[in-house]
Amino acid sequence: MGRSKTAFVCRSCGAESPRWQGQCAQCGEWNTLEDAGSGASRTAGRGSRAPAARAVALLGAGADPGIGPGDHPSSASAAPAGRTPSGSAELDRVLGGGIVAGSVTLLGGDPGIGKSTLLLQVAAQVAAGTPVLYATGEESAAQVGARAARLGLAPGGLQIAPEAELPRILTAAREMRVGLLVIDSIQTVFSPDLEAGAGGVAQLRECAAVLVRFAKDSGTPVFIIGHVTREGTIAGPKVLEHLVDTVLYFESDAGSRHRIVRATKNRFGPVGELAFFAMMETGLREVANPSAIFLARPSTIAPGSLVTVAREGGRPLLVEIQGLVDPMRFGNPRRVAQGLDATRLAMLLAVLHRHGGLSLQDHDVFANVVGGLALRETASDLPLLLTLASSLRDRPLPATLVAFGEVGLTGEVRPVAYGEERLREAAKQGFRQALVAEDNLPRKPIEGLTVRGVSRLADAVDYAFG
Ligand SMILES: [Zn+2]
Repeated sequence: MGRSKTAFVCRSCGAESPRWQGQCAQCGEWNTLEDAGSGASRTAGRGSRAPAARAVALLGAGADPGIGPGDHPSSASAAPAGRTPSGSAELDRVLGGGIVAGSVTLLGGDPGIGKSTLLLQVAAQVAAGTPVLYATGEESAAQVGARAARLGLAPGGLQIAPEAELPRILTAAREMRVGLLVIDSIQTVFSPDLEAGAGGVAQLRECAAVLVRFAKDSGTPVFIIGHVTREGTIAGPKVLEHLVDTVLYFESDAGSRHRIVRATKNRFGPVGELAFFAMMETGLREVANPSAIFLARPSTIAPGSLVTVAREGGRPLLVEIQGLVDPMRFGNPRRVAQGLDATRLAMLLAVLHRHGGLSLQDHDVFANVVGGLALRETASDLPLLLTLASSLRDRPLPATLVAFGEVGLTGEVRPVAYGEERLREAAKQGFRQALVAEDNLPRKPIEGLTVRGVSRLADAVDYAFG
């Protein structure tokens, strides 16, 4: 690798800077810029081969491998040529049709969200047909073995290497002629050629580059786990995104049983695909019908809650949006958005004032998508504003109502793509009323669903509370 001109890299967001600054210009974090060149090679040391890591075969364990629903053999993935099934049809779809030979996939997410669980399940599945090395600097072989047993994984050709020194891992992988290599995690592995400590930007990038070279040279697919870090001492997976072929992130919140994995980069498949899992005693299980998994609502609906039909990862999803407005106590009003675009929230508040007749300038405003999903489409405009109106008026919205639609600057309600598909999904999940843009009215009636079309935000507010 030639040394690039970039001297400093942000641990948090991966932004590069030619000189050191106290604050990252990209993400605004303080003291996150790190010297990316401090990883100067200690030795030339490429020719000499490191001794192999000691790998331990997994013993014992039960019968059922695979991540798919056990009673659903047809959902077991059948991957196209050149691809290896991961054992999960959901994950295969997000990968673009299975694991590509020689590809490097980064799996990022909060600590404890299920990254190791998912990849241990994948490793065990692939190991039924070819040797797999699971290298962990996080846990001992016994701990990983205990987890595998708890998950009921059949070990097959799965070997665990409790090892953090990358050259030793790669020597073991070559000697075993593995069909898959898992690195858990990139923050714990290190290259002894570098003076920099494990977990820093220089080590992360160097180790990732070495893994990419190994994958391309050997044709071995590599999965890399990267912890998303909140505190500034460890570099996060963002600094690696440009090096790898595919980037997957866990997107859900750890408090929920459900787990979403989203592809944010994929050289071998579509970007934005989502895989849905539920965290069970026995590991991550696919959710076959994810469209309503975010809808665990209480029987009495409180003010500030409304269900929308989002479209994420190519399918409709029913998601609860919550809004809370609270009289401001001091200073500037707060605008906080979880899973929604905060900039757009500010714009929508102005529209609500001018065209909905509701002023929130003396209120703190909080908006949240239940379940941790991030909504990236404007279809959530209308339901979001209705939840805020509902919270302000302290009046609940009907429990059987769904709404979606974009709201423009002049207070118009605009149609969104896949309107009929969204309405059908809402009806299928038992909703009885829908509030949408006039141009989203279905051509034929949808059984069980009364659809009301509006063209103005004010009409939508009237209807919802009418
Ligand atoms: Zn940054």
